[in-house]
Amino acid sequence: MTDVKHMKWWGWGNEGTAFHWQDKPAFAPFVLKAVGLDLLTATPAKAPSFDQMTIAKPVATAAILKTLAGIVGADDVRTDDMERVVHVYGKSLRDLARIRANQVLRYPDIVVYPDNEAEVQRIVDAAVAADAVIIPFGGGSNIAGSLEPVPTEKRTIISLDLGRLNKVLDIDTDAGTARIQAGALGPDLEAQLQAKGWTIGHFPDSFTHSTIGGWVATRSSGMQSDRFGDISQIARGLRVARPGGTLVIRSLPSTSSGPSVREMILGSEGRLGVITEVTAQIRPNAEVREIQAYFFPNFETGLKAMQEISESEARPSITRVSDGRESGFSLATSKERHGMDKFLAGTVLPGLMKSKGWAKQPGGLENIALSFIGFEGTKASTKFSKAIVDKIVKKHNGMGVGSGPGVLYDQKKFDTPYLRDFLLDYGAVGDVSETAAPWSKLRAVYDGAMKAADAAYASIGIEGWIMAHMSHSYHSGACLYFTFAFVEKNNMLGEYDVVKSAIQQSFIDNGATLSHHHGVGVEHSPWMEQDISAQGVQVMAGLFSATDPKSNLNPGKILGAKPQDSGVVKATKAAAATRASTTKAAPKKPAAKKPAAQRA
Ligand SMILES: Cc1cc2nc3c(=O)[nH]c(=O)nc-3n(C[C@H](O)[C@H](O)[C@H](O)COP(=O)(O)OP(=O)(O)OC[C@H]3O[C@@H](n4cnc5c(N)ncnc54)[C@H](O)[C@@H]3O)c2cc1C
Repeated sequence: MTDVKHMKWWGWGNEGTAFHWQDKPAFAPFVLKAVGLDLLTATPAKAPSFDQMTIAKPVATAAILKTLAGIVGADDVRTDDMERVVHVYGKSLRDLARIRANQVLRYPDIVVYPDNEAEVQRIVDAAVAADAVIIPFGGGSNIAGSLEPVPTEKRTIISLDLGRLNKVLDIDTDAGTARIQAGALGPDLEAQLQAKGWTIGHFPDSFTHSTIGGWVATRSSGMQSDRFGDISQIARGLRVARPGGTLVIRSLPSTSSGPSVREMILGSEGRLGVITEVTAQIRPNAEVREIQAYFFPNFETGLKAMQEISESEARPSITRVSDGRESGFSLATSKERHGMDKFLAGTVLPGLMKSKGWAKQPGGLENIALSFIGFEGTKASTKFSKAIVDKIVKKHNGMGVGSGPGVLYDQKKFDTPYLRDFLLDYGAVGDVSETAAPWSKLRAVYDGAMKAADAAYASIGIEGWIMAHMSHSYHSGACLYFTFAFVEKNNMLGEYDVVKSAIQQSFIDNGATLSHHHGVGVEHSPWMEQDISAQGVQVMAGLFSATDPKSNLNPGKILGAKPQDSGVVKATKAAAATRASTTKAAPKKPAAKKPAAQRA
């Protein structure tokens, strides 16, 4: 019987863990101002009940169940409702809203838990022989609709859960690489590496509930990517169970053996086979690891400083700067302060900012930009990098405030994911769209997304919120990460589609990509042709159809998904009858929204 643990069926993370605002004095006023939701008077919905779920019987013949049981044992072939619900979706806003509203169009029929690569291979072969569909399942944390079955699928759908393939198999200390089984969750593989003094250096915000196979399959990026690289650089070798045999990419520092098959597997979201093993670059634990916080007068100057740092000899592990709105949000999610911290936050800091003339800029102190820069390495290398960074920060009229806020940031980044479920309890949407663009276009991409979101909100008569930060610097550009939020008016996903689509389209229109690190799935598929050109789509479609002629491997992802059906969830308010009306209870927003130009 499997011992693989999963996140709660209706939301992010572990049962019993949730976001709380009562210990964050500035949070409720912030939410009221941002989206008009009054947490002091609104009543949250109760957690959804599993009894409300209506789940059609699985499409599974006795023959296929017997074949699978012959491979992994009967106990690890599951068709019970909870297993099927847990494996149907990832954790996108759309996924969470549909699960809460009991509006799932198609569940997987069978969940299977292999124990080793040979079993994975036999399952793949058996499934293809029976013309069944295979959907590999890592941690189930994706937010691009990369797991959901095609709603009209008539064949048997097998969710292949890799959770039992969770070991670090071998470390090559000379090469600085480790062979890691694909189903290992972040904390599990990191603990095994740490026991030997190594780290993978890949820490996405979803680290606790995502796997190395999933990271590769979605082209993930971790917070310290400036030092360690994205997973596309970290993953050197791969083993992939494909119909008829195992595809092997040996771990090499580089190669010129034609178009890169390694790169084809990266981001393939299960469409080219099941990744069973990854040989990953690892690093010895660093002597120093710290995150320093800085303030800039505004986002514009913060961006310029980040670009200059990326062009300098400094080698930070993190470069991140938030716009004024997100900086305000970060301060609002801080817990009550004490002692010196309170003293600094309450009086000295604003005083210093005023003395630098920041209060007189358009938007005043509301436009200050909070930045985190990480340093990791030897004492000498981090000292060298920090000295360069300090100089650049100073040149751009910024100021350092030490490592205290960085410690807090590091601690709370794995808690923030619980915020989306918290907002949904109040009938509010909170979600993200992220992208990457050249330095030369970053500002236009930022302005474009802000304008697009404002126009989208206006078109549906909603006072919504959007904020952003820049992170993950590269030689030629960086990632921009937008968070948006609003209170549902009539139809949560219909309204969500208007806002999300407008932001995504603005990325493409301003020269950015559809996603920097969340992948494509079905959510971003409609923008593929605009992103990689019609010829690019043709090459990719040819690859999928030639290597999987009957579409047995996670069909419908990356290419060909239609724009989302916005009518799927009709007002989750109906489903959450226990919740009091939030919008009506909320007083009017105290301040009118600023024009986009003033935000940064
Ligand atoms: C709150 C939150 C924060 C997040 N933060 C980040 C972040 O900081 N950085 C980031 O990059 N992403 C982030 N994500 C997105 C998500 O965590 C990543 O996409 C992650 O890489 C998915 O890994 P997983 O193991 O959960 O894969 P799953 O969600 O289980 O699967 C994702 C896709 O990969 C395929 N797949 C999974 N395992 C395999 C395998 N072994 N072989 C072949 N295909 C496979 C699946 O079929 C599916 O198509 C976040 C998501 C949430 C909800």
